[in-house]
Amino acid sequence: MTLRGKLLLGFVATALGVTLFFGLITFQIASDHAAIEERHLLEDLAKNNATWVAAALQNVPVAQALGTPHQDVADKERLLTALINAAGDIVASTGVSATELSEFGEPVVRAALQQASNGSFIAEHEHYLWGLAPVPNTSYRLLILHHAEEEKISFANFGVRMVVVGAIVIWFAVWASLIISGIISRRLEAKNALLVYQTLHDDLTHLPNRRLLYDRLAQAILVARRQRKSVALIVFDLNRFKDINDTLGHQAGDQLLEQIGPRLRKLLRQSDTVARLGGDDFAILLPEAGIEDAHLCTDKILKAFNAPFEMKGMSLRSSISIGIACFPQTSDDPDTLIRQAEVALYHAKATNMDRADYSRELDPNSVERLTLQSDMQKSLERNQLVYHYQPKIDVKTRQIKGVEALVRWVHPERGMVQPADFIPMAEQSGFIRALTYWGVEEALSQWRAWHQQKMSINIAINISARSLRDPHFIDIVTNSIKLSGVNPNCLEFELTESAVMLEPERSRSVLQEFRALGVALSVDDFGTGFTSLSYLKDLPIDKVKIDRSFVTNIQHNVRDAVLVRSIIDLAHNMGYMVVAEGVEDEKTWNLLEEMGCDIIQGFYVTRPMSASSFEEWLRRSPWKLADAPPSF
Ligand code: C2E
Ligand code: MG
Ligand code: MG
Repeated sequence: MTLRGKLLLGFVATALGVTLFFGLITFQIASDHAAIEERHLLEDLAKNNATWVAAALQNVPVAQALGTPHQDVADKERLLTALINAAGDIVASTGVSATELSEFGEPVVRAALQQASNGSFIAEHEHYLWGLAPVPNTSYRLLILHHAEEEKISFANFGVRMVVVGAIVIWFAVWASLIISGIISRRLEAKNALLVYQTLHDDLTHLPNRRLLYDRLAQAILVARRQRKSVALIVFDLNRFKDINDTLGHQAGDQLLEQIGPRLRKLLRQSDTVARLGGDDFAILLPEAGIEDAHLCTDKILKAFNAPFEMKGMSLRSSISIGIACFPQTSDDPDTLIRQAEVALYHAKATNMDRADYSRELDPNSVERLTLQSDMQKSLERNQLVYHYQPKIDVKTRQIKGVEALVRWVHPERGMVQPADFIPMAEQSGFIRALTYWGVEEALSQWRAWHQQKMSINIAINISARSLRDPHFIDIVTNSIKLSGVNPNCLEFELTESAVMLEPERSRSVLQEFRALGVALSVDDFGTGFTSLSYLKDLPIDKVKIDRSFVTNIQHNVRDAVLVRSIIDLAHNMGYMVVAEGVEDEKTWNLLEEMGCDIIQGFYVTRPMSASSFEEWLRRSPWKLADAPPSF
């Protein structure tokens, strides 16, 4: 039995004991009270009859003085009468013989000698009450004795007893109901508390859930507004958590999630809240904290994730991406603040950063962004998209091998919008598909235009990951190329490393079809997706374009130089040509040439420019086109 159960039992037993004890006392008092009352009645009766006996004594002998007129009543009431002389002898009696009465009535006779006037005694287990009164003008005393049967007493005191028992029952009922209602209300309270806990906490990690976070965030914002302080909200999720679930199972995933709360709690103040928003999304609320505090805090969190997590008997490291939003810098509404921190988180993920702070530019839902997005949808029909072309130079022959087509959006109010400012938005909204189809058509028509001017220029087009997943992409593009009459060998498709690796199987089959058609294929921005070159070995690609973030610094950064050199060597070993983009000066060119790089693209040669500017540039430039154009 539990301690609470024992306590309860003890309490009930004590209550019962107390009830019985007081019940008995009350019962006894009530019984005594009834007996005393009856004794006085008997005394009064004796007094009344004594007058009558005194009168009788003047006419009849003592033995007959008690007479019979009252005998019937006496029998009915079980009354015994007797005359006692001064010496204490019973000289006459009714209802019982004097001898018999002398035997069992000895206590009353003794009391009579002591001048008592009423009393009670028990003889042979029988209860007797009596009253005594002197017979006027004689030395006798009249005794009236009542054989008090239990039932008679009970009957006589029935009302009192009912009241007593009723009081006891009520008293007990009150106690019992108090106890029971106490138990029930305590249980209800416990159940209610559990329910409240469950609606505000996450089942798995027992951390506060989104609802409780929202509530605390709203409170923190109210306080901060009054005190003119700030509130920081950090949200983060685990990188590649799906892989953990897929490879080790959901149980292992759960074990990992369970360990996050306790690990973070150690780093935070008591007033900070760690909440689970769902899945592998967590949030940390720092009341009275600004962006700098949030940065300090996220430094600690990132460090904490360096230590491995134990699950299913093995240790595994996991990394996170973080988004931060602060009141009042960004929003004063809890909902919006959470959403903004999530926007920052997506941005951090998309750009392979550990963390990102929210800013309006990142937000796909800011008014500015929404307007830009709706403008973008109309850009195609309004002919606002143009290609700028940047040449690619063959390092050995120093001839122009081709150009990369890079899109620009000529916005009526904003002017020239760069791809970085709308391509991610186009990817997100799905507009990128239409943009890619437009790009293919545009490149084909530009090729034909240049061809008519006797210029043979291979054109490379950037293809997005979404287009690779588009089931109609191959057919539409193949059809366009065939209809245009352009030799597919004059075209090249650039696919980013991350796009290819997103769905390697699908990418391979799409790439194989284009390869079969004769289109050259290259992996763009190589190095940013952390893919090992060996992953690419099964893909039918021709070139690897090293990302400009590695190329631009090879003069100053030894690590970048080593990395670029090894990419070039490895790619050559695997039979790929290497393109370096982002070459801004001669020294970089020379270094790349010395490393064996095949093709160079960058501001050192020229910036991307419109078709007409490119034609103009070509006329004046020392860089010359490669061989004569192949025929249609
Ligand atoms: P990308 O395909 O890697 O293109 C090369 C980018 O590097 C271009 O930026 C180019 O202007 C820039 N660049 C070239 N040489 C240098 C240099 O020496 N120094 C520096 N700092 N930058 C140099 P741009 O035109 O802003 O394009 C950015 C990215 O936008 C492209 O990177 C590509 O991923 C994407 N993009 C551009 N046009 C299209 C398009 O038509 N379709 C798709 N899907 N993506 C496009
Ligand atoms: Mg490119
Ligand atoms: Mg690139």
